[in-house]
Amino acid sequence: MLDSHSEDDIEPETDEELFRNPVCYEPAGRNLDLERDDLGIPEVPGLLATLVSMRGRVPVDRRGLICPDCRDLRGRRVAMYLVQRDGVWLASHYRKPGEKPISHESDEHLARKERVAKDSEDHGYRADIESATPDGRARLDVRIKGDNGIVLGYEPQLSLQSARTMRLRERFRRRAGIRSVWDFADPDHDGLGMVPYVRTPNLPASVIRVQKNPIEVRDGNYVLEDVRCSPGGAIARCPGKPYDPENPLSDAYCGRQHLILMPEHQSSAAYDTSKSALTLTRFIVEAAGGARVPFRRNGMYGWLPSDQWDRYLSANGPEEQSSSEDRSAVRRGDRRALCTEDRPATEARNEPKKRYESRTVVLETREVTPQPALPAIDASGQPIPPCHICGQPASLRNTEDKPEHYSCRQRQGAPS
Ligand SMILES: [Zn+2]
Ligand SMILES: [Zn+2]
Ligand SMILES: [Zn+2]
Repeated sequence: MLDSHSEDDIEPETDEELFRNPVCYEPAGRNLDLERDDLGIPEVPGLLATLVSMRGRVPVDRRGLICPDCRDLRGRRVAMYLVQRDGVWLASHYRKPGEKPISHESDEHLARKERVAKDSEDHGYRADIESATPDGRARLDVRIKGDNGIVLGYEPQLSLQSARTMRLRERFRRRAGIRSVWDFADPDHDGLGMVPYVRTPNLPASVIRVQKNPIEVRDGNYVLEDVRCSPGGAIARCPGKPYDPENPLSDAYCGRQHLILMPEHQSSAAYDTSKSALTLTRFIVEAAGGARVPFRRNGMYGWLPSDQWDRYLSANGPEEQSSSEDRSAVRRGDRRALCTEDRPATEARNEPKKRYESRTVVLETREVTPQPALPAIDASGQPIPPCHICGQPASLRNTEDKPEHYSCRQRQGAPS
């Protein structure tokens, strides 16, 4: 019979959780800094050696290590113990085999998990809440078994977490072959664009739990558009020419053709009022069915309809590999980040930050070859002459009887 308090008898958490756990040393009343040799408690010399020597001799719950999040958020005293991964010390919650993982999740977080699991099951996709990846490195909030071997991980992320921790957690999922859908409600979240994501409104749990209530996807899904870079085209300015506040009226277009990856809510599709807004349910079901795929471009992540995927690949080349900086982050982890899913607002970082903007990315630019275009024809079969400013068909004429768009004249700032 094993000592009920020895490490042999207890189940450490997944690596992902370990990297996120803070740990408090109660006798000093402070959190440990496990990256430092003195653990950040210099007044207790040799603390690390002392703690390590307690293994197998002192019961886990009498070593002075507890989870500060469980204490502050749940009012519970949960013992922790140190484990080593790749030569780095990390802290795990103490729980016996078969005991559920400790969770600091809010009701909104739980409601999202339940809602997405139910919606998936209703559409014929098996969904499991709280399941670990086979390598034990990540714990998925909702694991959805899609078509053709697709495995989705749905991860509501309502609390703050650093971009570095988000990238790390995403990497555990990618390595396990998971396509993640990180769901952020905060438009200022550090994880936006750092992982394949959607952004949805911050709704109360009671609203989320009602399956007929739509949860609108507001960001994270992109589309490919092949656009002519001209005033008559679909884009507000050339994506290769940043807005110049010194010279706001300078020519904003290059006249070429761009294949661009753009946020759907900024694309021409957004003006198509005949289509209803994309909901989280439809997004998840389509992603499980393979109709949406995650992409990474210029270090930015998002989702793309898969009918545009081949075209994306031919312009983008194979998927980008993660950099060596990314790999070292896996090793080092981010142990200063809190382990909690729902970190109290008072713990929010104070540094000023600028709001994340989903960007348009140019995949390919081509010169426009003048072609004997079919003349545009109006309803009575008469050819429509080109606008003298943008060259696109214009059925109105200006005071000098030249074909012209009203909008083109306005852009030029000329008196009408
Ligand atoms: Zn805890
Ligand atoms: Zn351009
Ligand atoms: Zn025009």
